[in-house]
Amino acid sequence: MLVLGLETSCDETGVALFDSERGLLADALYSQVDIHVEYGGVVPELASRDHVRKTLPMVEEVLRSAGVAGADLDGVAYTAGPGLVGALMVGATLARALAWGWGVPALGVHHMEGHLLAPMLEDERPEFPFVALLVSGGHTQLVRVDGIGRYRLLGESLDDAAGEAFDKTAKLLGLPYPGGPHIARLAAEGDPARFDFPRPMVGKPGLDFSFSGLKTYALNTVEDCRAAGGPSEKDCRDIARAFEDAVVDTLVIKCRRALRQEGLKTLVIAGGVSANRNLRASLTEALARERARVFYPAPRFCTDNGAMIAFAGAQRLAAGQRDDADTAVRPRWPMEELPPLEGAA
Ligand code: ATP
Ligand code: MG
Ligand code: FE
Repeated sequence: MLVLGLETSCDETGVALFDSERGLLADALYSQVDIHVEYGGVVPELASRDHVRKTLPMVEEVLRSAGVAGADLDGVAYTAGPGLVGALMVGATLARALAWGWGVPALGVHHMEGHLLAPMLEDERPEFPFVALLVSGGHTQLVRVDGIGRYRLLGESLDDAAGEAFDKTAKLLGLPYPGGPHIARLAAEGDPARFDFPRPMVGKPGLDFSFSGLKTYALNTVEDCRAAGGPSEKDCRDIARAFEDAVVDTLVIKCRRALRQEGLKTLVIAGGVSANRNLRASLTEALARERARVFYPAPRFCTDNGAMIAFAGAQRLAAGQRDDADTAVRPRWPMEELPPLEGAA
C-alpha cells in the first residue's frame, strides 16, 4: 500500500510518501512560522494562502525524490480535521483533485489520529492496548487505545492545551511563537528550586487537566520580578524552568494514574509537546519504576508533519475505507466518532 499524505491543518505544510512494506519513502515539511511570528500566533487567512503556494510543489518534490508517479499510488490521504477550515480546505481540495486525476481513492484523515499513530513510524512499535497522551497546541487528552479507531477519552484539558500554555507563557517572557521549544531551551539552564509553581488538579480524582492557571501564575511571577527591576535573563530562565517542571510533573502524575486505572503498562505520547526532552525523560524514568514503558515519535514527527497522515491513511485505505463523494473537512471532529479498524497497523 503506497500512500501520499498531505497535512495542511494549521501552519505547517507536510507532504510524505508511506509504503506499508518499505516504510517512509520521502517526506517534506515547510513551516510557516516566519509568516506568523510577527503576529504572535497563526493568522488563518495567511495560513491558507501559503498552503496554496506550497503544497503542490512539495507533492512534486516528494514524488520525484522517491521516483514514484501519481498513478503508482494506492491512494491519497489528507488531513480532514480538526484544524483551521480554510487551511484544511486547501489540502482536501488538492488531495481529492490529484486522486481523481490519477484514478486512485482519497481519504480524509483525523489529525489527532495522525499524531497518535506517529510513534508507529519508528522501528520499535507500541502494541495495543495502550494509553495515549496527546499533547499539542490544541489538545491535551488521555485516551485509551484498543486499536486503530477504537478510542475512549479518559480525560482532557478543561481550558488551555499544554502547548497553548507553553506558547502563552513564552509570550509573557518575550519569546517568539511557537514558544514551546524556546521555553524548553531556557528551562534547561533555569534554577528548579527558585520558584514553586502549582500542579493543577492533581489533588482531585480523575484524569482532566487545567493549564490556564499556570499561565496566570507565570504572569504574577513576571510582575513580581518587574517590581524588583526585572525580569532579568536569569528570572526568565528560572520562570521557564518552574513552569516546565509544573507542566511535566502534572502530565506524569496523570499518565501514571491513567495507566493504573486502565490496568495497562504501555503509554504513548504524541503531539508537539511530546518533543519536550524533560517530559520524555521524566516519563521514561517514572514508568520504568513501575515496569511500564513509554513510546514516542522521533522529534520531527511530534509536531505536524505529512508522514503521520500518510501512515494513518495507509492503515485505513488498506482496510478499504474511502471518502464519500460529499465528505467535507471537519474543523471540529471528536476522535471517538472515527470508525474502528480491525487488526493492528
Ligand atoms: P493540534 O495538533 O492540537 O491541532 P497543533 O497542530 O498546532 O495543534 P502541534 O504541531 O502538534 O500542534 O504542536 C505544536 C505545539 O507544540 C506548540 O504549542 C509548541 O509550542 C509545542 N512544542 C513544540 N516543541 C516543544 C517542546 N520542545 N517543548 C514544549 N512544547 C513544544
Ligand atoms: Mg504548527
Ligand atoms: Fe498537530
